[in-house]
Amino acid sequence: MSDERVVLILGGTGEAFDLAALIDASPGWRAVTSMAGRTRRPRLPEGEVVFGGFGGPEGLERCLAERGARAVIDATHPFAAQISQNTAWACTKAGVPLLRLDRPPWPVRSGWRLVSDVGEAARFFRRREERVFLTVGKKDLGKFENAGDSFFLIRTVDPVEDPLPIKNHDLITGRGPFSVEGELQIMREYGITWLVTKNSGGEAGSGKLTAAEQAGVGVCVIERPQFPECESVETPTEALRWLCEL
Ligand code: NAP
Repeated sequence: MSDERVVLILGGTGEAFDLAALIDASPGWRAVTSMAGRTRRPRLPEGEVVFGGFGGPEGLERCLAERGARAVIDATHPFAAQISQNTAWACTKAGVPLLRLDRPPWPVRSGWRLVSDVGEAARFFRRREERVFLTVGKKDLGKFENAGDSFFLIRTVDPVEDPLPIKNHDLITGRGPFSVEGELQIMREYGITWLVTKNSGGEAGSGKLTAAEQAGVGVCVIERPQFPECESVETPTEALRWLCEL
């Protein structure tokens, strides 16, 4: 049996992917990456991968015990608030050290309209008639029901299968990284007047912000949710260093 210690990575981001590769190449730890299993063809990280939820925080606590996990790194997306709360709870209960790997948000640019959540972004368009490039993911599209007479160009990683309650829309798919040129082309082709995005941070999704600036398109940015207090770093390399010091 291997004497490597197990670290559970909560994944679903490029950083989680990179971290699993770093751990795989270093002695002492064995990474198990957990993914929600929402996207159809996710990039598979090095090491063991498990899919699907744990069945709430208690299920996650059980998983830590069953796997004998000696550390947890929460490298989920900055807007995946539920799993981060569950992870903080489970690690406290199980007495397992937890680190959050959190890419920095994009610095606020002048002229951005900041909103606190997707619902507030939807309400902003209710009494307007705009052509909106909506890049908030699949999960919250329902909030744009009754969002007025604007046109919404919706980009998701996987195709949207269920009918949407948004009367005037078009659907496209795409997986980052996205270039500034590509984003400009989309904005021009569809006559976009506003971009709506979460403040996800990172290089892969930042092309649309520069493109919007160049095209004179308004930018509505959804601010990050609050997370439970915990030790955190911004890069996979720092996360590996934390692990090696345990
Ligand atoms: P969420 O609302 O925070 O979590 C909902 C439930 O999904 C959790 O309670 C958990 O189910 C399961 N889950 C989420 N992440 C998981 C993981 N890494 N491993 C196992 N189970 C997980 O999450 P979400 O916003 O739906 O995001 C789902 C996944 O997509 C996340 O892993 C996130 O990193 C990734 N993602 C999210 C966004 C976004 O904008 N929210 C964007 C890009 C990628 P149980 O309670 O059954 O354990």
